[in-house]
Amino acid sequence: MERRKTQSTEEILSTLKDTDFALSHKMIQQRLSIEVDRATIYRVLNRFLEDGIVHRVISENGKQYFALCEDCERNDHHHNHFHFRCNKCGKVECLAREVDIQLPAGYTAENINSLVTGICASCR
Ligand SMILES: [Zn+2]
Ligand SMILES: [Zn+2]
Ligand SMILES: [Zn+2]
Repeated sequence: MERRKTQSTEEILSTLKDTDFALSHKMIQQRLSIEVDRATIYRVLNRFLEDGIVHRVISENGKQYFALCEDCERNDHHHNHFHFRCNKCGKVECLAREVDIQLPAGYTAENINSLVTGICASCR
């Protein structure tokens, strides 16, 4: 049992590492080479979230996607990039360019997790 748990965790992590766009639970499940049930995927992803390994992207239709973090620490996510969802291929990506937003005086931004929709570079 313990071994299987470790194996699912590793499989999910390598799936995320092998993909250069954000993945939903379902997309992760379809890409795994072993059978992992939905509840386990949820649990593993929640742990990755807490550990600062992945961050969550919520699309405008409420669907959740997960993408690898670059320099996050446990319980301490720092992101300043936009996410992009392509209207053609449906891919959700982390945009590489960092953004700096203007907030009203007295406000400090710690995380930017906004979603931009449009047409991605490969669909143009
Ligand atoms: Zn993060
Ligand atoms: Zn596209
Ligand atoms: Zn991202």
